[in-house]
Amino acid sequence: MVLGKGKDSLTQTTILETVKKLVALQKIDREIFHFKRELKAGPEVLVEAQKQFEAKKARLKELEEKFKAIQLERKGLEGDLLVKEDAICKVNAQLSEIKTNKEYTAKLVEIEGVKADKSIIEEKILNFYDLGDQVQISINQEKEALKQEEQKYLKEKQVIEASMKDLEGKKSVLENQRKQVAPELDKNLLLKYEKILNNKDGLALVPVTGASCGGCYMNVPAQVVNQIKMHQDMVQCEFCARILYLQEDV
Ligand SMILES: [Zn+2]
Repeated sequence: MVLGKGKDSLTQTTILETVKKLVALQKIDREIFHFKRELKAGPEVLVEAQKQFEAKKARLKELEEKFKAIQLERKGLEGDLLVKEDAICKVNAQLSEIKTNKEYTAKLVEIEGVKADKSIIEEKILNFYDLGDQVQISINQEKEALKQEEQKYLKEKQVIEASMKDLEGKKSVLENQRKQVAPELDKNLLLKYEKILNNKDGLALVPVTGASCGGCYMNVPAQVVNQIKMHQDMVQCEFCARILYLQEDV
């Protein structure tokens, strides 16, 4: 597969020169590609860390809600307790006005019933106090963990942001170098090369090593190698379409 010749077909010397320029360009583009990939990965790592941080925050919020619910339940029961205490007071007050033993005994039974209810409520209240204490311990632990997590996240963020800045700087140096090299190439060839570059993970130009394509490692037939050696055209790999060159030419 050869790249179509233009009207003014390239001479042997210009093909060789073109190959050298393309090799220089590919070296720059390969690095730019890697920098771009790292620049994309950095924020993704941060988003992931942020997500984990938010999940921990949500867990803390859940515990705080649980604690509130326990307090509410407990307060409700404390209200019930007051009602029972009132009831006991009232029945006690009625005792002095009772005339018959039968009525008196009945009132005492009533008081005992209310007292029994009261002690059940008291037990429940104590249980809620215990439960509240346990949840409060978990909340404190979770808060401490969250604080540490936040510090870790902020540190990580700082490191990633510094590294991104560094990468941006390096990328922009390379992009300036590229601006000097790229215009020296034939426009159509450059377009073709860039199209392959985008489709093939930043690798559009590869050497033939042994009898294999340096991009996809498939066999490059002797006849194709001869075609490259003739320096009449730019030759592409039949399998991956990357542009091929020979190490000895550069
Ligand atoms: Zn290939």
